[in-house]
Amino acid sequence: MQRLSEADGVSSEEGEVALIMLDCFRKAGLKAEIDGSGNAIAYKSLGKNPLVLGAHMDEIGLMVKHIDDKGFIRFIKIGGIDDRTLINQQVTVRTTKGTLAGVIGSKPPHLLKDEERKAAVDAKSLFIDIGAADAKEAAKMGVEVGNTVTFNTRFRRMGGKMFSGKALDNRIGCYVLLQLAKGLPLNVVLMGTAQEEVSTFGKGAHNAAFTLEPRAFIAVDTSIAGDHPEMRPEEAPVSLGKGPAITMVEAAARGNVASRKLVQKVMDCAKKEKVGFQLEVIDGGATDAASVSNVNGGISSIAVCTPTRYIHSTVGVGHEDDIEAQVKLLKRLIREM
Ligand SMILES: [Zn+2]
Repeated sequence: MQRLSEADGVSSEEGEVALIMLDCFRKAGLKAEIDGSGNAIAYKSLGKNPLVLGAHMDEIGLMVKHIDDKGFIRFIKIGGIDDRTLINQQVTVRTTKGTLAGVIGSKPPHLLKDEERKAAVDAKSLFIDIGAADAKEAAKMGVEVGNTVTFNTRFRRMGGKMFSGKALDNRIGCYVLLQLAKGLPLNVVLMGTAQEEVSTFGKGAHNAAFTLEPRAFIAVDTSIAGDHPEMRPEEAPVSLGKGPAITMVEAAARGNVASRKLVQKVMDCAKKEKVGFQLEVIDGGATDAASVSNVNGGISSIAVCTPTRYIHSTVGVGHEDDIEAQVKLLKRLIREM
């Protein structure tokens, strides 16, 4: 989990995560390869209309847009990011020459005027300092327009069974997927998907669905846990430690709406395995289940998600018990389907 969380993989640059996935898939005895969209696809044997489980490998982050004369970097956001979370973060810039340490700078509080203190933070007014003397030195260090930028958050254990880190959406899903690799039945595909965070329809999963033609698709993702101060249960009823969320409806039905039959099947598997589960319908946010559901005349899809706190921030928090429960549930689901 630590290795996956600390790997860098902003949408469109999932390579480092994909290599970890391939390595683990192969060690578990599966055939594994990267397809044209950057998905890491693994199976024991592949026939017609397989059952496909997908976990997106990409994370939210930034991308270099402009380097000024003094060597400071302006950037665009890749994926859904709250601008307030960006100020004074440590970041890592990935260049072709290697990675560079950087920070997102800001004006110190001593100098802030009252109206500046109250104003909303706009990512467009923020910049990355990589310690370059000027544009020439920045170029020498290797930074270029189009480099991706990730947050420099170390993975840590918290309390008895919790952990925190960056990119838990969706490296938790990747981790869960890897736990399913050993003893995988025939004609089941495990797929680390690319570019989920950057469009309503996760690009990698959407494209792969055309070639794999799944009989059914299970998105293995993370879900918003609302069990902390400043969140009301009616905003996000899912809690940490109570088992995976079975997402019935995504993005207020603009995303995937799972069939009753499939929802029932997943619930039955949870009950048979005696693990907790939480039913979920969400207003915002869609998973790869939405991306796959409308391919090839419609593919029955559902998302099974690990509850995660502070999603799409630099500090997600997850719970071991939820991962264990989700692995048990999905192993059962694979067997039964
Ligand atoms: Zn996600």
